[in-house]
Parts: sequence; C-alpha cells; structure tokens
Amino acid sequence: MTSEGATTTEPAAPAGVPHDLWLAAREAYRNAYAPYSRFRVGAALRAPDGRVFPGANVENSSFGLTRCAEQSAVQALATSGGRGFDELVVYTGSPQPSSPCGACRQVLFEFAPDAKVYLVNEAGDVIATTVADLLPLGFRLGPATEGAAG
Ligand SMILES: [Zn+2]
Repeated sequence: MTSEGATTTEPAAPAGVPHDLWLAAREAYRNAYAPYSRFRVGAALRAPDGRVFPGANVENSSFGLTRCAEQSAVQALATSGGRGFDELVVYTGSPQPSSPCGACRQVLFEFAPDAKVYLVNEAGDVIATTVADLLPLGFRLGPATEGAAG
C-alpha cells in the first residue's frame, strides 16, 4: 500500500463562512497576545474593495489598555482609509462561538451596521448574525459624512 505522502491539506472554513476571512481570523487568533486571560480572539473583516483586515486581541499589564480583536481590525481598516466593511469573522477557541463585547459592538456599528458577522470557534461551530442584530438601536452622533468613501 502506498501513501500519498505528507501533504498537508488546509482545513476548510465551516460551511457558509467565507474561507479567506476565516483563514485570516484564525491566523490572527493564533497571533493574539493574551498572556493574562489566555482568551485569544482573532477577527478579520472585508472592506467593500475586497481588502481583508485582521485583528487580534492585545492585552496589557495595565488591563484597561487591552484592545479587543474586533477593534484592532477596525483600527487597521480606518487607518488605511477604509470607512466600512461588508463582513466579519470572529474566531475563538471557546467551547461555543464568542460574541463581541459591548464596546466592540458599538465600534463595529460605527462603520458597518449592516455587515454580516460570523462567530466561529476552533471546533467549527458557527453563529451567523449581523452588526445591527448584535447592537439594536446602536448609537449614532449624527450622519456619518466624514470620509464617506466606502
Ligand atoms: Zn470587545
């Protein structure tokens, strides 16, 4: 009996979850800096122009300075000039897919209230939702016009 050798096949994203976003979120998850909580989170979002922006949670000895993965991804998006996104994957190692914290929900709402959100875990469980469903009646100071290019 012959073997096909040691070819490694990249695991596929769970059904219905965009594969490239899932891969980016998983990589961010693996790069997360969470020595205190040991609760790693990776996120990846897709801008309307197709660019993918990952983010990981980055903890700090001064706990209040900790940044969530979703906020890291939005910061990367906005820093590059992006002003919206179409979909987001949040990847955790928890037994059930984890939902963004309240602060992240508001940050996500600022840029993309209608975006699709896929909450996934290492086991392949998926919760599909939207930013608006995560944050009903989200706060807006006024119409977003600054840099409304996308
Ligand atoms: Zn958060």
